[in-house]
Amino acid sequence: CGIVGYIGYRDAYPIVIKGLERLEYRGYDSAGVALYDGEELHICKTKGKVSDLKDKVEKDIPTKGSLGIGHTRWATHGVPNDVNSHPHQSNSGDIVLIHNGIIENYASIKQELTKRGYSFYSDTDTEVLANLIQEVMKIEKVKLGKAVQIALKQVVGAYAIAVFDRRKPDEIVVARLGSPLAIGIGKNEYFVGSDASPFIEYTSNAIYLEDEEMAIIRIGRDVKVRSINDDEQLDANIQELQL
Ligand code: GLU
Repeated sequence: CGIVGYIGYRDAYPIVIKGLERLEYRGYDSAGVALYDGEELHICKTKGKVSDLKDKVEKDIPTKGSLGIGHTRWATHGVPNDVNSHPHQSNSGDIVLIHNGIIENYASIKQELTKRGYSFYSDTDTEVLANLIQEVMKIEKVKLGKAVQIALKQVVGAYAIAVFDRRKPDEIVVARLGSPLAIGIGKNEYFVGSDASPFIEYTSNAIYLEDEEMAIIRIGRDVKVRSINDDEQLDANIQELQL
């Protein structure tokens, strides 16, 4: 039930894990991270506490790299176990996604994707969305931001998501409908959180997404906020956090 993300020049892992600890109050049964070290993607996830995740990460994967996302899961579809924990990857491995909420029409989307040759390794609604984004990118030949928008238009449900493409690790795309999502704006670095607690010591500038909004967060560029339902680009409403 919590989302954290970092893209910039520092190591993402300490920021992401600390952020997950700060979001523990929201309740959860599993936790996971995806870290991109500049060459390779590493994912580590586990049923249990953020402290269990920490032990597993530090034993199993390299913790360097300045792109990372982290998730605490409160299971709605599929029991709490390691496989159902987030992040989830699309079949190609390229699309890496974390999600809070519920994709209500996941069964019909899953059926359609199965017909098109996709396999599913978890029992979650979330894995369906990762593959739908991959399929949209392939069929429509669009970039990640556009693919997320097209995919979300097909989704019925509630969500806060953060997603990246490991082939283009300078960008995180986020979206919200019914679950909170904040973006911290630093200097050459960006943060994502279910609330601002994961990034309060790094920046006091934040964008709180409204329902039906998404944002494309790319290094070296201003955050682009868009409406999910039409192509309107919105003015990013950057607020000063009161500390
Ligand atoms: N529906 C998703 C799942 O069961 C996300 C749950 C959550 O909000 O953490 O995996």
